[in-house]
Amino acid sequence: MEFRLIERIRELTAQPRDDVRIGIGDDAAVLAVPPGQELVVAIDTLVDGVHFPRGTAPVDIGWKALAVNLSDLAAMGATPAWALLALTLPDADPIFVDGFAEGFSRLAQPHRLALVGGDTTRGPLSISVAVHGFVPPGQALTRAGARVGDLVLVTGTLGDAAAGLHALQNPLHGDDPRASLRDFLIARLNRPTPRLAAGAALRGQANACIDISDGLLADLGHICTASGVGVEIEAALLPRSSALLDLYDETSALHFALSGGDDYELCFSVPAQRLAEVQSDLSRLGCGVTKIGRVVEGDSVRVRGTDNAWLATDHRGWEHFA
Ligand code: ADP
Ligand code: MG
Repeated sequence: MEFRLIERIRELTAQPRDDVRIGIGDDAAVLAVPPGQELVVAIDTLVDGVHFPRGTAPVDIGWKALAVNLSDLAAMGATPAWALLALTLPDADPIFVDGFAEGFSRLAQPHRLALVGGDTTRGPLSISVAVHGFVPPGQALTRAGARVGDLVLVTGTLGDAAAGLHALQNPLHGDDPRASLRDFLIARLNRPTPRLAAGAALRGQANACIDISDGLLADLGHICTASGVGVEIEAALLPRSSALLDLYDETSALHFALSGGDDYELCFSVPAQRLAEVQSDLSRLGCGVTKIGRVVEGDSVRVRGTDNAWLATDHRGWEHFA
């Protein structure tokens, strides 16, 4: 039974790569790191009912389990190559596995990412994916390089995923004209887009970079700590989708954008003189990018409201909603 599941996963995720000397099927994978490149690795676990709502479709779980990991590679400026998958399932359910593998491979394929091995066990539903990618030596982006005077930018829009979770937990009844806006927000929760091309383009440009998984304030706080700086952001500049602004009042929309988790956008700092170049590079890649603030002396994040007064914020990110 388990063997058939693994075979199915192997078929559905097949991705030929010359650097995979031995993939799924032996006791371990054998992989060739391209000469002159550094290996960048990350792992993240998704637990049923904790990292995705119970009842999330298998195809969405498969996408998201890979997406959150690719987002970590994107934040380092790495180009993905390989993944390992540890799957813990309550039972050997081929329908779950087919859906999961389809979602996983739909995201893996355009990035030429090969699933090279894993483990399959029985237990409460939980998924760990480990990803491996490459950067030129010394060029990985980190949280540590932000400098006073840098500008702070984010990709995409903020708060959609948290609003999508809120929408899921507060279902509408009957035909509601707002359904398609809610679907957009829920898709942002279930199918985050890892900003890999943007991350790679930021190598040699950004001084510090992080992906937003726990909320803008919490994750920018990590840049502050690692870089030994403060950050000031302007609430009025935060990029927010029209779906978010149409469905939620200003207070909720701001709250989601500052503290909501699961957006998987990149937040980074660049020297002011590189702003125009970075904006045009990312736009050319089809990735929206917005300046939201600047790096200052200090040790934490402050948010200036639209009335110019500092907002009372904390840095607990999405835990704020618990
Ligand atoms: P072993 O007992 O030697 O660890 P397994 O039966 O666990 O062997 O796995 C057999 C092969 O299938 C290995 O190559 C392993 O990497 C791969 N594999 C097992 N589970 C998965 C999975 N969920 N996804 C991808 N590959 C898997
Ligand atoms: Mg094993």
